Amino acid sequence: MELTQFHPSYFQDFRYVYPVVSRRANGVSIGVNLSPSKRCNFRCVYCQVDRSERRPDAAVDVDLMRRELEAVAKTTVSGDLFRCERFAQTPESKRVLRDFAFSGDGEPTLAPEFGAAVDAMIDVRKTLSLDAVKLTLITNATLLAEPRVAEALDRLAANNGEIWAKLDGGDAQRVKAIDRTAVPFERILENIAFAAKRWNVKIQTAALSWDGAAPTDAEIERYCDRVKEIVDGGGNVGGVQLYTVARVPSEPRAVALDDAKMDALAATIREKTGLAVDVFYSK
Ligand code: SF4
Repeated sequence: MELTQFHPSYFQDFRYVYPVVSRRANGVSIGVNLSPSKRCNFRCVYCQVDRSERRPDAAVDVDLMRRELEAVAKTTVSGDLFRCERFAQTPESKRVLRDFAFSGDGEPTLAPEFGAAVDAMIDVRKTLSLDAVKLTLITNATLLAEPRVAEALDRLAANNGEIWAKLDGGDAQRVKAIDRTAVPFERILENIAFAAKRWNVKIQTAALSWDGAAPTDAEIERYCDRVKEIVDGGGNVGGVQLYTVARVPSEPRAVALDDAKMDALAATIREKTGLAVDVFYSK
């Protein structure tokens, strides 16, 4: 198994923090999972989190999270991480700590302790003088405009922070089919527009065939229109991350697009939105 495909939810016995060699970050990303119970308000068809077994929801122990993050960050910076069997084959060029990322098994901003966790992350970055390390929130964008979340993100953004917001389609029908959420599509769009005016945002988009149907030309057109509206409305969008299915999804009917289709889709998005598009293929 390629290292870049190996994203364990837990590092040894840690509850919240796990290192990965990340394609997205082009190096080591230290993930912070605020959803050990796998709580999410989406049920994306391509999600690889197995929710057949769930733990009970519980408060995040932010002090423990902070200690785990500091320990893994020190282990990475010292190089000891690459003495572990799991990371021993990491190419030299990727043995760089790139970011701390709220990610994991559910939507991070659902945790009431999200703000405290952001502060703990900022504190670890400062304590270890990791000035080049980014702080990233990977989010489905549903709660970005909530005051408790927005205020925490102001602090994240002031510390080399960036928001990676999911937008899996340009219309309610496609998003509902792919993300399977009760959150209205309009709210997701409004939240991304709000976020892009206030912070640095990248848009993350999953492109896949669902139930035998790849995105149609009309769906792609609508998606590009929505993204362009966000940019034209003054949104600071740093680019699009275009993914397809790369790991085993929760639904076998979610199938990766081949490389040629991904390249064609990326070219269309570039042409119609003017944004840079990074493509992440199935392998
Ligand atoms: S938002 Fe993320 S964690 Fe939640 S279902 Fe979708 S892919 Fe999985």
